[in-house]
Amino acid sequence: MRTSQYLLATQKETPAEAEVISHQLMLRAGMVRKLASGLYNWLPTGLRVVNKVAAIVRDEMNKAGAIEISMPVVQPGDLWEESGRWDDYGPELLRIKDRHNRDFVLGPTHEEVVTNLVKNEVSSYKQLPLNLYQIQTKFRDEVRPRFGIMRSREFIMKDAYSFHIDAESLDQTYQIMHQAYCNIFERIGLLYRPVIADSGSIGGAVSHEFHVLADSGEDDIAYSDTSDYAANVELAEAVALGEATEGAAELQLVDTPDAKTIAKVSALLGCDVKQTVKTLIVKADEDSGHEFVALILRGDHSLNSIKAEKLALVASPLQMADEAAVKAKLNCGFGSLGPVELDLPIIVDRSAETASDFVCGANKEAQHFTGANWQRDVKTYTVADIRNVVAGDPSPDGEGILAIAKGIEVGHIFQLGDKYSKAMNCGVLTESGKHDVLQMGCYGIGVTRIVAAAIEQNNDKYGIIWPESIAPFKVVIIPMNMHKSPRIQEVAEKLYKDLCDAGIEVLFDDRKERPGVMFNDMELIGIPYSVVIGERNLDNQQLEIKNRKSGEKTLLEVDNLLEYIK
Ligand code: ATP
Ligand code: MG
Ligand code: MG
Ligand code: MG
Repeated sequence: MRTSQYLLATQKETPAEAEVISHQLMLRAGMVRKLASGLYNWLPTGLRVVNKVAAIVRDEMNKAGAIEISMPVVQPGDLWEESGRWDDYGPELLRIKDRHNRDFVLGPTHEEVVTNLVKNEVSSYKQLPLNLYQIQTKFRDEVRPRFGIMRSREFIMKDAYSFHIDAESLDQTYQIMHQAYCNIFERIGLLYRPVIADSGSIGGAVSHEFHVLADSGEDDIAYSDTSDYAANVELAEAVALGEATEGAAELQLVDTPDAKTIAKVSALLGCDVKQTVKTLIVKADEDSGHEFVALILRGDHSLNSIKAEKLALVASPLQMADEAAVKAKLNCGFGSLGPVELDLPIIVDRSAETASDFVCGANKEAQHFTGANWQRDVKTYTVADIRNVVAGDPSPDGEGILAIAKGIEVGHIFQLGDKYSKAMNCGVLTESGKHDVLQMGCYGIGVTRIVAAAIEQNNDKYGIIWPESIAPFKVVIIPMNMHKSPRIQEVAEKLYKDLCDAGIEVLFDDRKERPGVMFNDMELIGIPYSVVIGERNLDNQQLEIKNRKSGEKTLLEVDNLLEYIK
């Protein structure tokens, strides 16, 4: 590729609207341009990186036995009615009507479509297990699109869906996908962690997220310093409380409750909050004056140590699976998922899958309180305060001490069980001739988000430092003052041809620019190797190769370049 024929689109100035380094560098390096909130054009350099990531993902999925398909972005609303998510999914689902006034959605995910497909195409257990995937555009009407393409409204996801006759087969494929995800992130060259996760609005029981560790991450990952234990310390459930149902007032967070508030909550719960509770978050509804509290109990306290009879329960999807056990523990009423009618305060216990008990409560004046919207994505505050809470605790697996790191969620895998297959009646004839609904798994990777996450982990003051695996080009040829020197031009053209012929992705900076401009642009874009052709070195038949990552400069015989770059 010659820069003279390319759309380089680099920028000197740091754009004011970009908060995080990846967003700044993606704009400056000419990778993306904003069209509207959460909507981005991918310029050639950006698209090359996306395609690299997609190719690695595709390759590892194929190796893991998944089969590529392609499903429409626009999906019939009927299917979402059938699964129950037309009502459950909330405002992130963009709904549209066609000319016949029929409901459609722009797909935020494809469980409905793929379940419908498999229901019609697969009739016998002999066709199973089956793992179908696509790499395709998703749309989510995010409440706060931000950080450029990291949290955009339109983005590219690799989503896979597996179908099984039983839970054992599902677990086998789940483990294979877990390994495939590890392979993908290792191959790209990212520092990542698989973490135990909540399965959120997708549903199901077993779930892991894959996080790229970076300070700009929106999630807090608690991990053991000695074992493989890692979990997403999601306060989303506490946030859920803060999110009033549609139409209700915005709730305000009081970050550090004062002594009066602590005394009030202590009275409400019948315990000394300072002794029992690790973290206390209080939110006030400005309209009604009601206060809602979210709290995390200290490890040695259970829910029994607070006045459970004053509380109603809303369970997370995971806990729904074990309703009886949670009920027994609390011995009180049971709410339901999603917006709920409550005449009692709410409590949530997350002891089963996070590092600490997690309780949400509302005070008893809240009896007009109409409900809580269990929308895990609507985050109204950051989770930084948990940093002081969980770090230093013993790891739940009994090995080591927990530390907290910021993570960017780049992948998420779930064992869905029969949530969709049951609702949509997707089954097969089993060996014994009876009709059984299928077990399902689903596996997502944020292809475009990985691009930003990789930059968060790999940059310096000059710009991006691409891991070679996903670099837009492997090498750039920088001929100094080529337009004044036929000798330099001749060498540059020959090297360009040789590298192209050898199948190496090379950018040839043939612009009539000063060397300094070229160097700056190429460092910004982050191409792993720069080949600098200058008069003085050519006198000795030599070139200079600069390694973007190490900064190391090497003199090389012109004839040895190909061997060196390969
Ligand atoms: P998040 O917690 O960041 O909102 P999610 O849990 O809603 O993500 P999933 O439903 O698990 O996302 O989707 C699978 C993957 O798609 C995520 O792990 C992430 O990498 C990517 N992804 C999700 N939402 C976005 C978005 N708005 N922009 C870019 N990538 C996204
Ligand atoms: Mg989300
Ligand atoms: Mg998430
Ligand atoms: Mg997720």
